[in-house]
Amino acid sequence: MKVINPATEEVISVLTSDTAATVASKVEALRAGQKAWQNLGVKQRLDIIEKFGELVLKNKADLAQVLTSETGKPITQSLNEINGSLGRIQHLKTNAEKWLAQEIITPDDATRELIAYEPLGVIANISAWNFPYNVGYNVFLYALVAGNAVLYKPSEYASLTGLKFKSLLQEAGVPENVFEVVIGTGAVGQLLLEADLDGYFFTGSYQTGVHIAKTVAHKLVPVQLELGGKDPLYVMDDVADIRQAAINAAEGAFYNNGQSCCAVERIYVQEGIYEDFVKHFTEEVKSYLLGDPIEDRTFIGPLTRPQQLAVISDQIADAVAKGAQLVLGGERLSRKGYYMSPAVLTGVNHSMELMKEESFGPVIGIQKVSSDEEATSLMQDMSYGLTAAVFSANEDRAKKVLDQMNVGTVYWNCCDRVSPNVPWSGRKNSGLGATLSYMGIRAFTQPKAYHWRG
Ligand code: NAD
Repeated sequence: MKVINPATEEVISVLTSDTAATVASKVEALRAGQKAWQNLGVKQRLDIIEKFGELVLKNKADLAQVLTSETGKPITQSLNEINGSLGRIQHLKTNAEKWLAQEIITPDDATRELIAYEPLGVIANISAWNFPYNVGYNVFLYALVAGNAVLYKPSEYASLTGLKFKSLLQEAGVPENVFEVVIGTGAVGQLLLEADLDGYFFTGSYQTGVHIAKTVAHKLVPVQLELGGKDPLYVMDDVADIRQAAINAAEGAFYNNGQSCCAVERIYVQEGIYEDFVKHFTEEVKSYLLGDPIEDRTFIGPLTRPQQLAVISDQIADAVAKGAQLVLGGERLSRKGYYMSPAVLTGVNHSMELMKEESFGPVIGIQKVSSDEEATSLMQDMSYGLTAAVFSANEDRAKKVLDQMNVGTVYWNCCDRVSPNVPWSGRKNSGLGATLSYMGIRAFTQPKAYHWRG
């Protein structure tokens, strides 16, 4: 399998894809290694994961280069991701022993009743490329700490990073038969669906997620899906500082080139401040430095996947044909690499694909609304349900809108943010189940009830 640098279109590595036979032998090895890992105990497993975090920190410059070379993520953002994701390890260190401990529910009764949280066994982690550290850790670190063995399939666009995870976990002390990596495209991912595994934890697109859930349904094992979004941000006319609101909204839309599951993908602005907001927003986007992702100051690099360029161009063309104005960007750069200048469209509405389908790239539509009721109804007019945000000086007003959202996460005066302290979950087409928080570790366990008399 060829690994291509999206900034240069050069082949930077050629990897050997897994086959049905190698997948089977990896599953067998993990099956053999899992029990000893479980019996090691939470404290020892946490010590090993902490060591892994230290190794990541020590090697972060090299790891950031690898991530940037295979995804085109600007180097500063690669470093931010590597540093930021270490918070998950701290979160586990602080809480995992407490959350995995046996709970005594009726200590004083003649029959004592207890709950134990046992690992699932050997689980599959089929992952995405856009934030491989964040979305990878959410699954494989929590699963390992809970006592599972993990078969990790990195995205074909983040395989070099996946292999780094394996070598650093092993260096930290995770046995070879407890964490394994499977290399390949979706066809290799398909082999995992046919393998004998005790849970499927997927991060990626709605289409693949549904396919996975259907294919493994007959196994009756846990399936969790962290899928896409079309996340709305509503800017109310009482914001304290319109320019600052525009700067924050633009960052939410264009960080990592818009390739975040919780990127702001639709903006609604109340009519009284609409013109001002659009002016500040476009000024901010114009100031972004687009270029080689290896440069420290670059904010917008190439897209990771060439096929997304056409998706975005089509969304822009559809919107313009239906009456939208392309105020900025949307052009391919005449240089090697999958570059597109960040695009801003106004005069948009929900007849346009741009406002209904996930873009997952550097494009945003800004729609004028007259009232909170109109904004609420447009924000909810969506098959996805990942996050929703409101910028406003008035908490009660913002909360009234956000309480009506059928989404897993709501933001007041912030956006495009994930924290290990609270669950990360999607509703509707954005997914099933939760990672992070205590729910995110319990997800990798199965309860056993003890009725204890004597
Ligand atoms: P994708 O669905 O194309 O691929 C995801 C993974 O699934 C890859 O490893 C791929 O090889 C594998 N795969 C593909 N076909 C398969 C099959 N038939 N069987 C098994 N595995 C298969 O998604 P992507 O392009 O990597 O990621 C982008 C999507 O992920 C976006 O929709 C984004 O919003 C979403 N995402 C969601 C979250 C979240 O936490 N909700 C986080 C990151 C990304």
